[in-house]
Amino acid sequence: MPELPEVETVRRGLEPSMSGAVITRADVNRPDLRWPFPDKMAERLTGARVLQLRRRSKYILADLDTTETLLIHLGMSGRMTVSGDPLGQFVHEHPNLIKHDHVVFHMDNGARVTFNDPRRFGAMDLLDTATAEMHPLLAKIGPEPLGNDFNETHLAKVLKTKNTPIKTALLDQSLIAGLGNIYVCEALFRAGLNPTVKAKDITSKKITALVPIIREILLEAIEAGGSSLKDFRQAGGDLGYFQHSFRVYDREGENCATPDCTSAVQRITQSGRSTFFCPTCQS
Ligand SMILES: [Zn+2]
Repeated sequence: MPELPEVETVRRGLEPSMSGAVITRADVNRPDLRWPFPDKMAERLTGARVLQLRRRSKYILADLDTTETLLIHLGMSGRMTVSGDPLGQFVHEHPNLIKHDHVVFHMDNGARVTFNDPRRFGAMDLLDTATAEMHPLLAKIGPEPLGNDFNETHLAKVLKTKNTPIKTALLDQSLIAGLGNIYVCEALFRAGLNPTVKAKDITSKKITALVPIIREILLEAIEAGGSSLKDFRQAGGDLGYFQHSFRVYDREGENCATPDCTSAVQRITQSGRSTFFCPTCQS
């Protein structure tokens, strides 16, 4: 499942083909993904110029010159593929439509952007740009972890009220935007915080340390994604999910990455999700 860094990588990958370009045609090949598409979506997109591509949490937002904003959510398995980009960055031939190519954007610069989603947990919607932030999917999302509103003061304030384990609290999208299971496990490992400790019991010193660690982990992953975009020519135009190396995530039973630590990574279940941690480094 794509998390914030993967979504940011897809956004950056789409920018050369979509930002500033006009959607000359939108093919909408089915009535819905996770939810029905908005009424007359293809017509409302046709002829629209993409003014800018933004990201909020795990949503890509394309502001159009029609006063509407196209919201794209990749869900569990959604993928964006770019072909025929005239800027020369992505020189893939337009492929034939394959199964699960649900929406295709034909851009006036010759690029074609295809949304493929076998499991259909993804979503697209059209919002009024002026009130986009009030959309039910966006209204209750907490501050962006890479933005100025995410800081020690904010984190201390919201954690103080939470009787849940820190792991669960950090996954709460109303407290911080876009953090998922992988990066929360990694951040807690790097911070030396036990994932089962109650959020309200975390010391202010640990909270102060956690803020830059969360930013650092996300930025490293975004940077790795940027490197993967450079290999795009080989990747078949698929703005997909590149392989990161994680220190604890999905490493149950493997040696802890900390030099001199002899413990093995453990897996426990918290709120139905796997948590990976080192019982020694995160005691
Ligand atoms: Zn360890």
